[in-house]
Amino acid sequence: MTLCPTIRSKRQPNCPSCNAGGYSVIAPQSDDLFGAPGLWGFMKCENLSCGLLWLDPAPFRDDLHLAYQQYLTHESPQLLSSGRKRLESYVERACLQRWLNYPFGLSAAHTLFGSVLAMITPAGIDGFMSSAMFLHHPIGNRRLLDVGCGDGTFMARMRSFGWIPEGVDFDPIALDQAKAKGLTVFEGGIATLKQMEAPFDAIVLSHVIEHLPNATEVIRQCEKLLAPGGCLALLTPNSESLGFRIFHENWRGLEPPRHLCIYNQRILTNMIIDAGLIPEFVTTSARGARYILGYSLALREMRKTGAHKLKINLWMRVLAITLQQLERIALQFSRAAGEEIFLVARKRAT
Ligand SMILES: [Zn+2]
Repeated sequence: MTLCPTIRSKRQPNCPSCNAGGYSVIAPQSDDLFGAPGLWGFMKCENLSCGLLWLDPAPFRDDLHLAYQQYLTHESPQLLSSGRKRLESYVERACLQRWLNYPFGLSAAHTLFGSVLAMITPAGIDGFMSSAMFLHHPIGNRRLLDVGCGDGTFMARMRSFGWIPEGVDFDPIALDQAKAKGLTVFEGGIATLKQMEAPFDAIVLSHVIEHLPNATEVIRQCEKLLAPGGCLALLTPNSESLGFRIFHENWRGLEPPRHLCIYNQRILTNMIIDAGLIPEFVTTSARGARYILGYSLALREMRKTGAHKLKINLWMRVLAITLQQLERIALQFSRAAGEEIFLVARKRAT
């Protein structure tokens, strides 16, 4: 593929959220993950009650798509052996039945045993709860909207759990894969969201808002699409995570220039309240730390050695799992330590 030589951009000296000034925390760097052109740094908001990280310079909106020329939202998931798949499915069902009321017909002993197994897996219980984005079992015909649905993997899972899912994404190749799964999906962004037929009982934004130049507008539109009492579930990288503190410019969660803003729990909670939603819980999780920290180790090594290809070797995998376990312990002392922020909010019932 021929890459566009430049992405047009402009300086962004003020915080896109609160308009306060900021200071540089990440010096301009190239996109060594997916080869987008340009040099991109991050600023941090000096307003202590905000603390947003934002990309500086910021790409022109009309050029944002150029950052995705080699970025795939439609990669096939890693295939697991059938034995491991069965075990993971068993533990997942135990967790979802025990904490989110999904009726999988497991006995009390099995849900307890499966939940104990979940605790000793590297990702912990969060890893299994996130497979349903912390959404409780739907009673009756409940509609779910997956914003940034990609190839529909999450939608298909939620359909098997009893939800009626619909999805929106800008990637036509990924959407073709979703359609092949028999899923209802629509191509586009905020304009498409404005045309969706309300109401939805749940809306999911999983690793989406950090990519958006209009995250506030999208969250407000989601609020409009929700039924009274409906649920918004959101997942995004955490700028205050242990991983960012350790790896800094090599932290996988930065991903310039596709990630435009990196949030923290405070600012995300404020955005949700400003959109008229009631936060139900906000927390951080180490469930994705093995992946994020493994890639951060590989990125640091690649930059140090001048290699051209990102390679995660065995010791990096072992170290990433070890760091993930340390992060799980750190979470007992600091709620902000996790690599990702999970937020669940509800629309007022009346
Ligand atoms: Zn700010």
